[in-house]
This record gives sequence, C-alpha cells and structure tokens, in this order.
Amino acid sequence: MQFDEILARHNIKVTLLRLELLKILSQSDKPLSYDEILEQVRANKTSIYRAFEIFEKNNIIIKNEVGRKAFYELGSAAKAYFVCDVCHAMINIDLPLPNIAKSIKSAVIKGICKECE
Ligand SMILES: [Zn+2]
Repeated sequence: MQFDEILARHNIKVTLLRLELLKILSQSDKPLSYDEILEQVRANKTSIYRAFEIFEKNNIIIKNEVGRKAFYELGSAAKAYFVCDVCHAMINIDLPLPNIAKSIKSAVIKGICKECE
C-alpha cells in the first residue's frame, strides 16, 4: 500500500513531509532514533514532532524506548530486536514469531551482547 493511501485511510492530511518521514522509516532496516531522522529531513522540528505524534496515535509507527532514547519504525514492519544493555546495539531477531496474536507491535529482548560480555 502506498503511504498516501495509508494516511488517507487514517484521515491524516497528506503532506510531503509526512510522506518523506514514512519513506525514511520504510527504507531503514532498523528502528531510527529521532536524531537519525532529523539528519535526513530538512523541515521544521515541530512539524516533524507533530507528524510522529499523529503516526503513533494511529499505530502507523511504533516507538520503542531503548536506553532512554526513542526509536521509531513502521508498524507494518515491526520486528523483534535484541538490545544490549551496555552498548545499546540493536540486533534484528529473525525468527518466526509465534502465531498467537493477530498482529505483533514490537518485541524487544534485553541483555548483554557477545562483544560486551
Ligand atoms: Zn553490547
């Protein structure tokens, strides 16, 4: 589904910035922090913040807090991650998720990675 259709379905006004933000998230293979997103977009910070608020409220994106930092990813592409408590590395866990829920928003498994052991 196209991003403009997704926004329209949630009755969210389609703007170039909103489409761009969703595109950035869709092109990343890992959740992005707010700072990482800011680096890629030339726009007013308030507009970006507001767009993220709306996306989150409509479950279009998912926010995860790791080491007091917020990370965002598309709700439709949410995966499971292992996060190291020491270096905060995020490693995608590629496993078949249990077939118990209609949809899984996110799963974060915390621990200490091999490098930090
Ligand atoms: Zn580590």
